[in-house]
Amino acid sequence: MVLPTSVEEASRLLPTAEGGASAKLLAGGQDLLTELKEHLVEPDTLVNLKSVPGLDTIEWNEAGELTIGALVTLTDLEEEAGVVEKLPILSEAAASIASAQIRSVGTVGGNLNQRPRCWYYRAEHAPCLKKGGSECYAFEGRNKYNAILGGGPSYIVHPSDLAPALVALGAKVTLKSHSTSRQLLLEDFYTLPSDGDILTETRLKPDEVLTHVHIPKQRAGMRSTYLKFKERASYDFALSSVALCLWLDQGQITRTRIVLGGVAPKPWRTVKGEQAILGKRVDARTIEMAREACLDGAVTLSENGFKIPLTKGLLTRAFQKLA
Ligand SMILES: Cc1cc2nc3c(=O)[nH]c(=O)nc-3n(C[C@H](O)[C@H](O)[C@H](O)COP(=O)(O)OP(=O)(O)OC[C@H]3O[C@@H](n4cnc5c(N)ncnc54)[C@H](O)[C@@H]3O)c2cc1C
Repeated sequence: MVLPTSVEEASRLLPTAEGGASAKLLAGGQDLLTELKEHLVEPDTLVNLKSVPGLDTIEWNEAGELTIGALVTLTDLEEEAGVVEKLPILSEAAASIASAQIRSVGTVGGNLNQRPRCWYYRAEHAPCLKKGGSECYAFEGRNKYNAILGGGPSYIVHPSDLAPALVALGAKVTLKSHSTSRQLLLEDFYTLPSDGDILTETRLKPDEVLTHVHIPKQRAGMRSTYLKFKERASYDFALSSVALCLWLDQGQITRTRIVLGGVAPKPWRTVKGEQAILGKRVDARTIEMAREACLDGAVTLSENGFKIPLTKGLLTRAFQKLA
C-alpha cells in the first residue's frame, strides 16, 4: 500500500487509459476490501487516498453552494447541521446506507464509485458481462434485484444511495488526474451498460480521482426527501428508492426533480415524470400521472415485476410527505 500526499501523486500511481500499473484507489475500504477478498480485483498496489490532506471537509460558501470532499464519511455528511436543515434528501440518503459502523468509515467518493452488487458479478466463478464474459446471467437467471429500467446487455442496478439524491440536487463532481481537472454533472458521470464500456459504470478515467462533490444553491422553497425500500429491516441495499425535490407555489408544482434508485444501472432521472406534473396540484390524480410517467418504459425480468408497484408506492409516499 502506498500513502500519497497529493491527488497528483495518487493519480501518477494509477494506470492510464493505455494500461500500466495495476493499482486501485482505497478510501474507507467498505466495498474495495470485499472485492479484494472475493478476488474480483487483484491490484499490485493499493493507493490509500486517506493520506491526501484536504479531501475530508464539508464547506458552505457565501452563495449557499456546498462542496463535499471525497473523503467525508457518510456519518459526517448525514449529521452536518446545514445538510440536515437545508438538504434533508441528502441526510436521509446518507442515513439509509448500511450500518452505523460502515457509515463511520465509508466515504462519499467510495460510495459514488462502488461496484455493482449483482450476485453473478460478486460470485468468483461466474465470468459475467461485467467481468469480461459474454453473458448477463441475471437476464435469464435469478434477477429479483436487477434492473427494470435502462437494462441491457447487463442488468445490474447501481447500488449507491447517495447518487440518486445528489443527481436530484443537480450535483457536479470534480475529477482530477496529475495533469487534468474537469467537472461533470453527476447525472452525466454515470453510464448505462449500452453506452460503451460495459466493465465500468462511470466516465471516470483510470488515472482520475473524484475529489469533490458540488451542490448548487437550490431555488427557494425546495422540499425534498429520499425514501428507500430494503428487504431487511437492518442494513441493506435499495430494492427501490425515490429521491424527490419539489417546489410549490400556492399549491401548484413549479419545479420538480425525480430520480429513482435500485431499479436501473445508473441513478434514473425521470424527466418525463417531472414534466408530466408541472403546474398541477399535488393530488391523487397528479401522483398517478407521476407514477405512470416515471415508470414509463420499464421492462421487468422473470423475478422483479414487484419493483413496478413498489416504486409506484414509494413515489406516492414521497409526494404525500412533501405536499
Ligand atoms: C454490508 C454492506 C452494506 C452496504 N450497504 C449499502 C447501502 O445500503 N447503500 C449504499 O449506497 N452502499 C452500501 N454499501 C456500499 C459501500 O461500502 C459504502 O456505501 C461506502 O460508502 C463505500 O465507501 P468506501 O470509502 O468504503 O469505499 P472503498 O471501498 O474504499 O472504495 C469503493 C470503490 O470506489 C473507488 N474509490 C474510492 N474513493 C474514490 C475516489 N475518491 N475517486 C475515485 N474512485 C474512488 C475505489 O477504488 C473502489 O473501487 C454497503 C457495504 C457493505 C459492506
